[in-house]
Amino acid sequence: MSTFPVDSADLRREIIETARALPRLGLTKGTSGNVSARTDSGFLVTPSGTPYEELRDDSIVALDFQGRYRGDILPSSEWRMHLDFYLARPECGAVVHCHSPRATALSCHRRGIPAFHYMVALAGGDRIACADYASFGTKALSETMVAALGPRNACLLANHGQIAGAPTLRKALSVAEGVEDLADQYLSALSLGDPVLLDDREMAEILTKFKSYGKQAHELAGGPAAFELPTRMD
Ligand code: 13P
Ligand code: ZN
Repeated sequence: MSTFPVDSADLRREIIETARALPRLGLTKGTSGNVSARTDSGFLVTPSGTPYEELRDDSIVALDFQGRYRGDILPSSEWRMHLDFYLARPECGAVVHCHSPRATALSCHRRGIPAFHYMVALAGGDRIACADYASFGTKALSETMVAALGPRNACLLANHGQIAGAPTLRKALSVAEGVEDLADQYLSALSLGDPVLLDDREMAEILTKFKSYGKQAHELAGGPAAFELPTRMD
């Protein structure tokens, strides 16, 4: 049985709220960017070329994994990128694409974000790669995106922006925000020359720690090996 929710008014509203958070958080402007959520039978995605404030429940478009859509409204031109993201990352239930300014600036140099800061692990690996250039809304773009994702859940898109996925809409938005934050810090660090990078061993340690980071003691089966915890008084 699918672990993903059915198409509902609540889910459509959550997509709209996530999409409207993009311009509010400075992660995109105009009609750039798009948001989707996986359902038990495919995924729901924002419509193409529609200002975020004009989105309504019935403007969100349902597609299946054969790329067929339902209704009269055309889905985002990046529907295939969302579809292929879900096929590549089975645990992801939501995908956010945006033209956030600092990640986009870096993507115009066709540079990804290396392990200059341990937080690159937020995308599930030791770096955030930049996908080769392909025109927006094409199968070629979705192919370069899948190649750049590898086992990770975010990447930059050359001369375009970034894309991020996660189990939930809230988390996908947070990964996209994190990628933008890292791009900002990396660009600042580059102003003094090439920053010192964390090595494979250090990043492997971070990736292990991220498995327990943010969890409470009762959620850590067998106790957290990766952190030193203080002794509890009571
Ligand atoms: P849509 O308006 O078709 O979703 O496209 C916006 C975009 O960012 C294209 O890459
Ligand atoms: Zn775009």
